[in-house]
Amino acid sequence: MKKTIKFVSIALILLLLATGCSGNTNSANADETQKPEDQTQQNNAGKVDNEENQQEGVKEESTDVDPKEEIDLSLKPNEAGQIMVLMYHNVGEEEAEWVRTPENFKKDLKTLYEKGYRPISLADFVNNNINVGAGLTPVVLTFDDGNQNNFNIIEKDGEKIVDPNSVVGILEEFNKEYPDFPLKATFFVFGENPFRQPELLEYKLNYLLEKGFDIGNHTLGHNDMSKVTDPNKIQEFIGKQAAFLEKLVPGYKVNTYALSYGARPKDKALYPYLQKGEFEGKSYENIAVLNVGWDPSVSPIDKAFDPYAIHRVRASETKVDGVGMYDWMAVFDKNPERRFISDGNPDIVTVPKNLEEKVDKDKLGDRELYIYGE
Ligand SMILES: [Zn+2]
Repeated sequence: MKKTIKFVSIALILLLLATGCSGNTNSANADETQKPEDQTQQNNAGKVDNEENQQEGVKEESTDVDPKEEIDLSLKPNEAGQIMVLMYHNVGEEEAEWVRTPENFKKDLKTLYEKGYRPISLADFVNNNINVGAGLTPVVLTFDDGNQNNFNIIEKDGEKIVDPNSVVGILEEFNKEYPDFPLKATFFVFGENPFRQPELLEYKLNYLLEKGFDIGNHTLGHNDMSKVTDPNKIQEFIGKQAAFLEKLVPGYKVNTYALSYGARPKDKALYPYLQKGEFEGKSYENIAVLNVGWDPSVSPIDKAFDPYAIHRVRASETKVDGVGMYDWMAVFDKNPERRFISDGNPDIVTVPKNLEEKVDKDKLGDRELYIYGE
């Protein structure tokens, strides 16, 4: 029996070599990803349950369902659509331009949830590594300045607990109730006293990472880069802050940067230092630079996407200027074709035909592009 299997395998390999299939990286990848399924099929067929028959799986590939066919087009997936990167600052008792009350913040989360938005990390966003369910829309949550109301520890019955009215407390509570709204958010902090309880700083930073949150760079002194002309200063303001934080969270790279005041150096020749540089022998490299913004970002697969100038939406209710998150959610409700809608399969980028032109095919990586409709 074993000899026959070996013979069949070898014959198959030879056949594949002859047709040039095995030299194709795509089919090699497909082979890898389909392995578990193939093995199940073999087991079901009662043939063999050892690994020697793996090559048979290649043959059976042709009978496998094309994963594209499993995409539900009635959900109108559009992975070239826009994504909101929400910019929060504070949660506090009195609603203001940069403050949400705990009640309003909870309402924001509930509204996002009900309208089908699900948080993803900033890194997954810029890497186009988007894994939310079919028909859902990713959203990126960001919190600037690292005020105490973002992450506050209080004492209750002699025990230290996360303040249920601080951002972290509210997010955790919401996640308990809605586990499919994951703890993904980036806290952009500046200076040496993020979250304003210095004795708890190390604990807090590590706590955030353990929970799945990220820590981002907001410069050493909340620096206004439009006033900086010396490249060494730019590197100090970013590099020193990254180094300070990284010392407290060994192994973690602080590699995202939200511009304080949304300001860039006046001289464009200095822009590269926002991305990478070195200060006192320690280097930094940012994968994302975020603006202070007022509109949703284009999809990371869009030709126009610039990870070093990411647009953000103000997480406020201001109907005054018309660019708050509720204004944009209303725009997406009215024009659902503008919104990023996931196909549910992270290996496939599904885009309606009329947006095909927007797709930067160089950014696809291992993912397959699936164009549908007319
Ligand atoms: Zn700020």
